[in-house]
Amino acid sequence: ERILDVKKLSKYFDMGKGKTLKAVNDVSFFVNRGETFGLVGESGCGKSTIGRTIMGLYNKTSGDVIFDGINVHSLNETEKFDFYRKIQMIFQDPYASLNPRSTVKEIIAEPMEIHGLYKSKTEQLDRVYELLEEVGLNRDHANRYPHEFSGGQRQRIGIARALALDPDFVIADEPISALDVSVQAQVVNLLKELQLEKGLTFLFIAHDLAMVRQFADRIGVMYLGNMVELTDSDGLYDKPLHPYTQALLSAIPIPDPDIEEERERIILEGELPSPVDPPSGCVFRTRCPMAMAVCREVKPTFQEIEQKHYVACHLYDETLDEIAKEKLNIV
Ligand code: SF4
Ligand code: MG
Repeated sequence: ERILDVKKLSKYFDMGKGKTLKAVNDVSFFVNRGETFGLVGESGCGKSTIGRTIMGLYNKTSGDVIFDGINVHSLNETEKFDFYRKIQMIFQDPYASLNPRSTVKEIIAEPMEIHGLYKSKTEQLDRVYELLEEVGLNRDHANRYPHEFSGGQRQRIGIARALALDPDFVIADEPISALDVSVQAQVVNLLKELQLEKGLTFLFIAHDLAMVRQFADRIGVMYLGNMVELTDSDGLYDKPLHPYTQALLSAIPIPDPDIEEERERIILEGELPSPVDPPSGCVFRTRCPMAMAVCREVKPTFQEIEQKHYVACHLYDETLDEIAKEKLNIV
Protein backbone atom coordinates (compact mmCIF):
# COMPACT_ATOMS: atom_id res chain seq x y z
CA GLU A 1 0.00 0.00 0.00
CA ARG A 2 1.37 3.39 -0.99
CA ILE A 3 1.46 6.04 1.68
CA LEU A 4 3.19 8.65 -0.49
CA ASP A 5 2.96 9.24 -4.21
CA VAL A 6 5.14 11.93 -5.77
CA LYS A 7 4.03 12.51 -9.34
CA LYS A 8 6.08 14.49 -11.84
CA LEU A 9 7.03 16.96 -9.15
CA SER A 10 8.93 20.09 -10.16
CA LYS A 11 10.09 22.92 -7.94
CA TYR A 12 11.73 25.99 -9.47
CA PHE A 13 13.00 29.04 -7.65
CA ASP A 14 13.03 32.48 -9.25
CA MET A 15 16.57 33.80 -8.79
CA GLY A 16 15.86 37.25 -10.24
CA LYS A 17 17.38 38.70 -13.42
CA GLY A 18 15.42 36.21 -15.49
CA LYS A 19 17.27 33.25 -13.92
CA THR A 20 15.47 30.16 -12.66
CA LEU A 21 16.89 27.55 -10.33
CA LYS A 22 15.44 24.22 -11.38
CA ALA A 23 15.88 22.50 -8.02
CA VAL A 24 13.55 19.57 -8.77
CA ASN A 25 12.59 18.46 -12.26
CA ASP A 26 9.73 16.15 -13.07
CA VAL A 27 10.52 13.68 -10.27
CA SER A 28 8.26 10.67 -9.65
CA PHE A 29 8.44 7.99 -6.96
CA PHE A 30 6.24 6.35 -4.37
CA VAL A 31 6.81 5.08 -0.84
CA ASN A 32 5.06 2.01 0.57
CA ARG A 33 3.70 2.04 4.10
CA GLY A 34 6.29 0.72 6.57
CA GLU A 35 9.29 0.88 4.28
CA THR A 36 12.31 3.16 4.11
CA PHE A 37 12.85 4.97 0.87
CA GLY A 38 16.33 6.43 0.48
CA LEU A 39 16.90 9.57 -1.56
CA VAL A 40 20.57 9.95 -2.47
CA GLY A 41 22.72 12.48 -4.27
CA GLU A 42 25.37 15.17 -3.90
CA SER A 43 24.46 18.35 -2.04
CA GLY A 44 22.46 20.66 -4.24
CA CYS A 45 20.84 17.80 -6.19
CA GLY A 46 17.36 18.73 -4.94
CA LYS A 47 16.77 16.02 -2.36
CA SER A 48 16.11 18.39 0.56
CA THR A 49 13.87 20.50 -1.65
CA ILE A 50 11.81 17.38 -2.37
CA GLY A 51 11.51 16.71 1.37
CA ARG A 52 10.36 20.24 2.07
CA THR A 53 7.93 20.28 -0.85
CA ILE A 54 6.38 17.02 0.36
CA MET A 55 5.97 18.61 3.81
CA GLY A 56 4.18 21.54 2.16
CA LEU A 57 6.91 23.91 3.40
CA TYR A 58 7.43 24.89 -0.26
CA ASN A 59 4.76 25.28 -2.87
CA LYS A 60 5.24 23.04 -5.87
CA THR A 61 5.86 24.45 -9.34
CA SER A 62 4.05 21.53 -10.99
CA GLY A 63 3.14 17.89 -10.39
CA ASP A 64 1.44 16.39 -7.35
CA VAL A 65 2.25 15.08 -3.88
CA ILE A 66 -0.37 12.63 -2.65
CA PHE A 67 -0.04 11.61 0.99
CA ASP A 68 -2.41 9.00 2.38
CA GLY A 69 -4.83 9.71 -0.46
CA ILE A 70 -4.87 13.48 -0.10
CA ASN A 71 -3.23 16.17 -2.20
CA VAL A 72 -0.74 17.93 0.06
CA HIS A 73 -0.80 21.19 -1.87
CA SER A 74 -4.54 21.73 -1.74
CA LEU A 75 -5.23 21.20 1.97
CA ASN A 76 -7.48 23.56 3.90
CA GLU A 77 -6.44 24.66 7.39
CA THR A 78 -8.17 21.80 9.23
CA GLU A 79 -6.71 19.24 6.85
CA LYS A 80 -3.25 20.80 7.27
CA PHE A 81 -3.53 20.40 11.02
CA ASP A 82 -4.29 16.68 10.61
CA PHE A 83 -1.56 16.31 8.00
CA TYR A 84 1.11 17.61 10.40
CA ARG A 85 0.17 14.99 12.91
CA LYS A 86 0.86 12.25 10.42
CA ILE A 87 4.09 13.52 8.91
CA GLN A 88 7.13 14.87 10.71
CA MET A 89 10.69 15.82 9.87
CA ILE A 90 14.09 15.17 11.46
CA PHE A 91 16.76 17.68 10.46
CA GLN A 92 20.44 17.45 9.67
CA ASP A 93 21.55 19.90 12.33
CA PRO A 94 19.78 19.02 15.56
CA TYR A 95 21.26 22.03 17.31
CA ALA A 96 19.94 24.60 14.85
CA SER A 97 16.50 23.02 14.98
CA LEU A 98 16.19 23.02 18.79
CA ASN A 99 15.31 26.27 20.54
CA PRO A 100 18.34 27.00 22.80
CA ARG A 101 16.16 28.79 25.39
CA SER A 102 13.72 25.92 25.84
CA THR A 103 14.25 22.92 28.08
CA VAL A 104 14.14 19.46 26.57
CA LYS A 105 10.77 18.97 28.23
CA GLU A 106 9.35 22.11 26.60
CA ILE A 107 10.81 21.22 23.21
CA ILE A 108 9.23 17.77 23.16
CA ALA A 109 5.93 18.93 24.65
CA GLU A 110 5.46 21.83 22.21
CA PRO A 111 3.86 19.86 19.34
CA MET A 112 1.60 18.08 21.87
CA GLU A 113 0.43 21.42 23.18
CA ILE A 114 -0.21 22.86 19.72
CA HIS A 115 -2.32 19.84 18.90
CA GLY A 116 -4.00 19.75 22.31
CA LEU A 117 -3.15 16.10 22.76
CA TYR A 118 -3.44 15.84 26.53
CA LYS A 119 -5.93 17.33 28.95
CA SER A 120 -3.60 17.43 31.95
CA LYS A 121 0.00 18.59 32.26
CA THR A 122 0.82 15.43 34.22
CA GLU A 123 -0.31 13.21 31.38
CA GLN A 124 1.70 15.27 28.94
CA LEU A 125 4.81 15.11 31.11
CA ASP A 126 4.46 11.36 31.46
CA ARG A 127 4.44 11.10 27.69
CA VAL A 128 7.56 13.32 27.47
CA TYR A 129 9.35 10.97 29.90
CA GLU A 130 8.22 7.98 27.89
CA LEU A 131 9.52 9.51 24.66
CA LEU A 132 12.87 10.33 26.26
CA GLU A 133 13.23 6.70 27.23
CA GLU A 134 12.19 5.52 23.77
CA VAL A 135 15.07 7.48 22.24
CA GLY A 136 17.62 6.29 24.80
CA LEU A 137 17.59 9.31 27.13
CA ASN A 138 15.87 9.56 30.54
CA ARG A 139 13.70 11.81 32.68
CA ASP A 140 16.72 13.43 34.32
CA HIS A 141 17.38 15.07 30.96
CA ALA A 142 13.98 16.74 30.83
CA ASN A 143 14.87 20.00 32.59
CA ARG A 144 18.14 20.61 30.79
CA TYR A 145 18.88 22.79 27.76
CA PRO A 146 20.07 21.67 24.30
CA HIS A 147 23.63 23.04 24.76
CA GLU A 148 24.18 20.63 27.63
CA PHE A 149 24.02 17.66 25.26
CA SER A 150 26.35 16.05 22.72
CA GLY A 151 25.48 16.05 19.01
CA GLY A 152 24.16 12.50 19.14
CA GLN A 153 22.00 13.25 22.19
CA ARG A 154 20.64 16.38 20.54
CA GLN A 155 19.61 14.33 17.53
CA ARG A 156 17.84 11.97 19.94
CA ILE A 157 15.93 14.97 21.31
CA GLY A 158 15.02 15.96 17.74
CA ILE A 159 13.78 12.42 17.14
CA ALA A 160 11.71 12.46 20.35
CA ARG A 161 10.10 15.72 19.25
CA ALA A 162 9.35 14.28 15.79
CA LEU A 163 7.67 11.29 17.44
CA ALA A 164 5.66 13.36 19.93
CA LEU A 165 2.55 13.32 17.73
CA ASP A 166 2.92 9.64 16.90
CA PRO A 167 3.33 10.23 13.14
CA ASP A 168 3.03 7.60 10.38
CA PHE A 169 5.68 9.10 8.17
CA VAL A 170 9.03 10.67 9.00
CA ILE A 171 11.25 12.58 6.61
CA ALA A 172 14.81 12.32 7.87
CA ASP A 173 16.95 14.87 6.06
CA GLU A 174 20.59 13.83 6.50
CA PRO A 175 19.91 12.97 10.15
CA ILE A 176 23.42 11.70 10.83
CA SER A 177 25.63 13.72 8.46
CA ALA A 178 26.55 16.24 11.16
CA LEU A 179 27.38 13.57 13.76
CA ASP A 180 30.68 11.93 14.63
CA VAL A 181 31.18 8.67 12.78
CA SER A 182 31.20 6.83 16.11
CA VAL A 183 27.63 7.89 16.96
CA GLN A 184 26.19 7.68 13.43
CA ALA A 185 25.54 3.95 13.69
CA GLN A 186 23.83 4.38 17.08
CA VAL A 187 21.38 6.90 15.68
CA VAL A 188 20.70 4.73 12.62
CA ASN A 189 20.07 1.74 14.89
CA LEU A 190 17.71 3.81 17.01
CA LEU A 191 15.75 4.85 13.92
CA LYS A 192 15.56 1.23 12.81
CA GLU A 193 14.28 0.11 16.22
CA LEU A 194 11.68 2.84 16.35
CA GLN A 195 10.55 1.94 12.85
CA LEU A 196 9.96 -1.67 13.87
CA GLU A 197 8.20 -0.76 17.11
CA LYS A 198 5.95 1.89 15.65
CA GLY A 199 5.54 0.76 12.06
CA LEU A 200 6.96 4.05 10.82
CA THR A 201 7.56 4.87 7.19
CA PHE A 202 10.77 6.76 6.43
CA LEU A 203 11.96 8.99 3.65
CA PHE A 204 15.68 8.92 4.37
CA ILE A 205 17.64 11.66 2.63
CA ALA A 206 21.43 11.34 2.47
CA HIS A 207 24.47 11.98 0.29
CA ASP A 208 26.22 8.79 1.30
CA LEU A 209 25.09 5.75 -0.65
CA ALA A 210 26.88 3.30 1.65
CA MET A 211 24.91 4.65 4.62
CA VAL A 212 21.55 4.64 2.87
CA ARG A 213 22.05 1.12 1.67
CA GLN A 214 22.09 -0.20 5.24
CA PHE A 215 18.77 1.39 5.97
CA ALA A 216 16.68 1.71 2.82
CA ASP A 217 14.44 -0.86 1.14
CA ARG A 218 14.42 1.09 -2.08
CA ILE A 219 16.66 3.91 -3.26
CA GLY A 220 16.27 6.80 -5.69
CA VAL A 221 19.45 8.44 -7.00
CA MET A 222 19.28 12.13 -7.85
CA TYR A 223 21.56 14.28 -9.95
CA LEU A 224 21.08 17.99 -10.53
CA GLY A 225 17.37 18.03 -9.73
CA ASN A 226 16.58 14.86 -11.67
CA MET A 227 15.91 11.31 -10.56
CA VAL A 228 18.34 9.23 -12.63
CA GLU A 229 17.87 5.73 -11.19
CA LEU A 230 15.47 3.99 -8.82
CA THR A 231 15.21 0.41 -7.66
CA ASP A 232 15.41 -1.77 -4.56
CA SER A 233 18.50 -1.37 -2.45
CA ASP A 234 20.16 -4.71 -3.33
CA GLY A 235 19.41 -4.33 -7.02
CA LEU A 236 20.97 -0.91 -7.08
CA TYR A 237 24.06 -2.14 -5.32
CA ASP A 238 24.47 -5.36 -7.32
CA LYS A 239 23.61 -3.99 -10.71
CA PRO A 240 23.73 -0.22 -11.00
CA LEU A 241 22.70 0.82 -14.50
CA HIS A 242 23.13 4.57 -14.60
CA PRO A 243 26.74 5.75 -15.14
CA TYR A 244 26.33 8.19 -12.21
CA THR A 245 25.25 5.44 -9.81
CA GLN A 246 28.09 3.27 -11.08
CA ALA A 247 30.55 6.06 -10.25
CA LEU A 248 29.05 6.61 -6.78
CA LEU A 249 29.25 2.91 -5.98
CA SER A 250 32.77 2.54 -7.31
CA ALA A 251 33.88 4.97 -4.62
CA ILE A 252 32.59 2.75 -1.79
CA PRO A 253 35.31 0.39 -0.58
CA ILE A 254 34.23 -3.23 -0.26
CA PRO A 255 34.87 -4.06 3.43
CA ASP A 256 35.01 -7.86 3.10
CA PRO A 257 38.53 -9.00 2.07
CA ASP A 258 37.09 -12.30 0.78
CA ILE A 259 35.29 -10.45 -1.95
CA GLU A 260 37.93 -10.18 -4.58
CA GLU A 261 35.95 -8.47 -7.24
CA GLU A 262 36.73 -4.84 -6.50
CA ARG A 263 34.69 -2.44 -8.51
CA GLU A 264 36.83 -0.46 -10.88
CA ARG A 265 37.02 3.06 -9.53
CA ILE A 266 35.28 5.52 -11.83
CA ILE A 267 36.50 9.06 -11.33
CA LEU A 268 34.07 11.70 -12.52
CA GLU A 269 35.68 14.50 -14.49
CA GLY A 270 34.60 18.10 -14.23
CA GLU A 271 32.57 20.12 -11.80
CA LEU A 272 28.96 19.71 -10.84
CA PRO A 273 27.11 22.14 -13.14
CA SER A 274 24.84 24.80 -11.67
CA PRO A 275 21.14 23.96 -11.52
CA VAL A 276 20.53 27.55 -12.72
CA ASP A 277 22.26 26.67 -15.96
CA PRO A 278 21.97 22.89 -16.40
CA PRO A 279 23.42 21.12 -19.46
CA SER A 280 21.16 20.51 -22.45
CA GLY A 281 19.95 16.95 -23.09
CA CYS A 282 21.09 14.62 -20.32
CA VAL A 283 21.98 16.61 -17.18
CA PHE A 284 24.84 14.23 -16.43
CA ARG A 285 26.47 14.41 -19.86
CA THR A 286 29.24 16.90 -18.93
CA ARG A 287 30.67 14.35 -16.49
CA CYS A 288 29.54 11.06 -17.99
CA PRO A 289 32.29 8.71 -19.21
CA MET A 290 29.78 7.08 -21.59
CA ALA A 291 28.30 10.24 -23.14
CA MET A 292 27.30 10.02 -26.80
CA ALA A 293 26.39 12.71 -29.32
CA VAL A 294 22.69 12.18 -28.72
CA CYS A 295 23.10 12.93 -24.98
CA ARG A 296 23.69 16.58 -25.80
CA GLU A 297 20.48 16.92 -27.78
CA VAL A 298 17.90 14.66 -26.18
CA LYS A 299 16.96 14.37 -22.53
CA PRO A 300 16.65 10.66 -21.63
CA THR A 301 13.26 9.52 -20.33
CA PHE A 302 13.03 8.02 -16.85
CA GLN A 303 11.67 4.56 -17.60
CA GLU A 304 11.44 0.99 -16.35
CA ILE A 305 14.34 -0.87 -17.94
CA GLU A 306 14.11 -4.05 -15.93
CA GLN A 307 11.41 -5.09 -13.51
CA LYS A 308 11.00 -2.30 -10.97
CA HIS A 309 14.31 -0.81 -12.03
CA TYR A 310 13.98 2.69 -13.46
CA VAL A 311 16.74 4.57 -15.24
CA ALA A 312 17.08 7.76 -17.24
CA CYS A 313 19.90 7.02 -19.68
CA HIS A 314 20.13 6.62 -23.46
CA LEU A 315 22.36 3.56 -23.09
CA TYR A 316 19.23 1.56 -22.21
CA ASP A 317 16.73 3.35 -24.38
CA GLU A 318 15.48 1.12 -27.16
CA THR A 319 13.36 3.84 -28.69
CA LEU A 320 16.38 6.12 -28.79
CA ASP A 321 16.92 5.88 -32.52
CA GLU A 322 13.52 7.19 -33.43
CA ILE A 323 13.41 9.97 -30.86
CA ALA A 324 16.94 11.02 -31.61
CA LYS A 325 16.29 11.14 -35.35
CA GLU A 326 13.17 13.14 -34.80
CA LYS A 327 14.88 15.64 -32.53
CA LEU A 328 17.92 15.89 -34.71
CA ASN A 329 15.73 16.22 -37.82
CA ILE A 330 17.48 13.33 -39.50
CA VAL A 331 14.31 11.64 -40.67
FE1 SF4 B 1 25.67 9.30 -19.92
FE2 SF4 B 1 24.22 9.74 -22.10
FE3 SF4 B 1 23.36 8.05 -20.24
FE4 SF4 B 1 23.41 10.67 -19.79
S1 SF4 B 1 22.17 9.61 -21.30
S2 SF4 B 1 24.05 9.09 -18.40
S3 SF4 B 1 25.26 11.29 -20.85
S4 SF4 B 1 25.18 7.83 -21.52
MG1 MG C 1 20.29 19.05 1.88
